[in-house]
Amino acid sequence: MSRITGGKAIIIDGRAIAAAISERTAASAAFLRERGITPTLAVVVATDDEGAAWYLRSIGRIAARVGIDCQVHRLPWPGGQAEIAERLAELSHHPAVHGIICQTPLPDGADLAIVGSGITVSKDVDGANPQSLGMIAAGVAGAFPPATAAAVLEILASEHVPVEGRRAAVVGRSTVVGKPAALLLLAEHATVTICHSRTRNLAEVCREADILVVAAGRPAMIGAGHVAQGAVVIDVGINPTDGGGIVGDVDTDAVATVASAVTPVPGGVGPVTTAQLMQHTIRAALRASAADETG
Ligand code: NAP
Repeated sequence: MSRITGGKAIIIDGRAIAAAISERTAASAAFLRERGITPTLAVVVATDDEGAAWYLRSIGRIAARVGIDCQVHRLPWPGGQAEIAERLAELSHHPAVHGIICQTPLPDGADLAIVGSGITVSKDVDGANPQSLGMIAAGVAGAFPPATAAAVLEILASEHVPVEGRRAAVVGRSTVVGKPAALLLLAEHATVTICHSRTRNLAEVCREADILVVAAGRPAMIGAGHVAQGAVVIDVGINPTDGGGIVGDVDTDAVATVASAVTPVPGGVGPVTTAQLMQHTIRAALRASAADETG
C-alpha cells in the first residue's frame, strides 16, 4: 500500500510491505513450531555502536512477533577478529541455530569478509560470507543475498515495478548493498549500471535509469536533477540527523516531483530489510528440516 503526496510520485509504504512479508514468515514459523522445530536466529554482537544496538532491538522485536527465537551472543568489546570468527564458526555447527548474523561495525582490525567466512553458507542469512555473494554472482542456488539487497527487489516486486529489460542504476558498490543489489537486478534481467564515488556525470548516468537504487550514505545527495521522468527511486541510505532522527540519500520531496514512486526514509527500505532477514531465517530453517527428513 502506498500514498500519493504533494508531488506526483507514489510514496512507497515500506512498513506495509514488511507487514505482508512478516505475515507469511509467521505462518511458516508456526508450521515449523508445530513440528517441534524452533526457528532460531543467532546474532553475534562484537560492537558497542549505538546504531547497531538500535537495530538489534528492532531485530529482537520483529523476531518475537513472527515466532523466531533470537539469540544474542555478546562478545567482550573490543574483541579480536579470531574470537569473532571462532564464535561464528561454532554457531555454524550448532544444529539448533538456523540463521547467523554478525553485527557491524566490527572493532578495528576485524574484517567482515574474513569473519563472515566462518558462517556456513546455508545459515548465512545476511550474505556476510563472500562465498554467498560469489554464488549469487554465479547464479548458483542455495545462498542468501544481504537482506537489504533482497529488500530492494522485494519492494520492486510488491509495487509491481517491471524490471526485465529496464535500465537500472545503483549508486554505491559496497559488498553489503550496492554490489548484491546490482547482481539481483541483473538476475531479473535489468540492464544495470553501478555508480560510485569516481563516476563522472553522476546525475546524467542516473537520469538514464528507469529504476534508481541509492546506497551511498550521503544525506539528500540525489535530487530531482538525478531522476528521469517517471523513474522508480529506492532510497537505501540511513544518515543520522542532529535531532536524533534519520534521513536517506534522496531528497524525497524534490524527487517526488519527477519520479513515479519513491521510498521514504524512515519507513521505506529499513523495515523491509528486517522482515527479509526473518524470512531468510525461516527459509534456512525450512531447508534444514527438509534436509533432515530426507536423511
Ligand atoms: P559504504 O560501504 O560506505 O558504501 C558507500 C558507497 O557509495 C561506496 O561504493 C561509495 O563509492 C559510494 N559513494 C559515496 N559517495 C558517493 C558519491 N558522492 N557519489 C557516488 N557514489 C558515492 O556504505 P553501505 O554500507 O553500502 O551503505 C550505504 C548506505 O545505506 C548507508 O547510508 C547505510 O547506512 C545504508 N544502509 C541501509 C540499510 C537498510 O536496511 N536500509 C542497510 C545497510 C546500509 P566508492 O566505492 O567509490 O567509495
